[in-house]
Amino acid sequence: MFETTTAGSLPKPDWLAETGKLWPLWRAEGAALDAAKSDATLLWLKVQEDLGLDIVGDGEQARQHFVHGFLVQVEGIDFEHKVKMGIRDNRYEAMVPQVVGELRLKGRVHAMEARLARAHTRRRLKFTLPGPMTIVDTVADRHYGGDREGRIRMAFAFAELLNQEARALEADGVDIIQFDEPAFNVYMKDAAEWGVAALERAAQGLACTTAVHICYGYGITANVDWKRTLGQEWRQYEQVFPALAKSSIDQVSLECIHSHVPPDLMRLLDGKDVMVGAIDVASDAIETPEEVASTIGTALQFVARERIFPCTNCGMAPMRREVAERKLAALVEGARLARERWGQAA
Ligand code: ZN
Repeated sequence: MFETTTAGSLPKPDWLAETGKLWPLWRAEGAALDAAKSDATLLWLKVQEDLGLDIVGDGEQARQHFVHGFLVQVEGIDFEHKVKMGIRDNRYEAMVPQVVGELRLKGRVHAMEARLARAHTRRRLKFTLPGPMTIVDTVADRHYGGDREGRIRMAFAFAELLNQEARALEADGVDIIQFDEPAFNVYMKDAAEWGVAALERAAQGLACTTAVHICYGYGITANVDWKRTLGQEWRQYEQVFPALAKSSIDQVSLECIHSHVPPDLMRLLDGKDVMVGAIDVASDAIETPEEVASTIGTALQFVARERIFPCTNCGMAPMRREVAERKLAALVEGARLARERWGQAA
């Protein structure tokens, strides 16, 4: 009960890549880079186990960015000529690659780190992939027509490729495959109309546990500023959760602590496991175990205890390593407190 996990990404050591950045440059290349990625993956597995996390991951150490890390293995994408594009409804600008032709996987995307992680931990292993809707919001379309219909066709094309990699990850021994869909909180109507269907296409035929992470973004300035414009109550989840509740996806990861999400929206996820964000990634202040337990206590008012998985609000990639470690220690300790308090049926 109250098994702990993270949203996915963890800070890269400074010998692997630039720190504190969303699109960090690697410190090495070729075989030396591959070796450094493996070492960082093992390092974080060990740290997660030692901290006591129940469900561990590769910390996304082998990919530069959670979306582009997948796209580098996709044919039909021009990475040589990136263009500046406003993403997440123009919340911030990013240099994005262009879709220029039929999409096809060049080969496996995450075989190295998935197999390495599986070989080195007996804990439950979670692996993350970007969701189809978030991918189409992070590339420029020069092939599918650039309109709404084109976006949808492109999303389903990416969903097929994601499904191929997800099935292969399952065969590698991954227990949980999580798709990250921050775009669901930006394009709520589209998410309900076709985003969830594209997500289900990506997860089609998987026998392992499937999950989706929906957040308000990393703790970067553009996101923190955007959150200030969202008012006292963040009701974005309200439009998407009903569609997710009806979907085949098993688990939903959401923001909770320090957010303005009305916690009663969790009620809309009846029948799903809920990964409750009990660690704020937009602040370096370390949560106390009491704060974590209290967040779990809030979730308990709306979600059955066996369905609650204490988690981070979002990925920790741009944070300082030492801060991330202390926050994860608080998460584990807070979940232990919650187990003491609410572990037994009343
Ligand atoms: Zn996130």
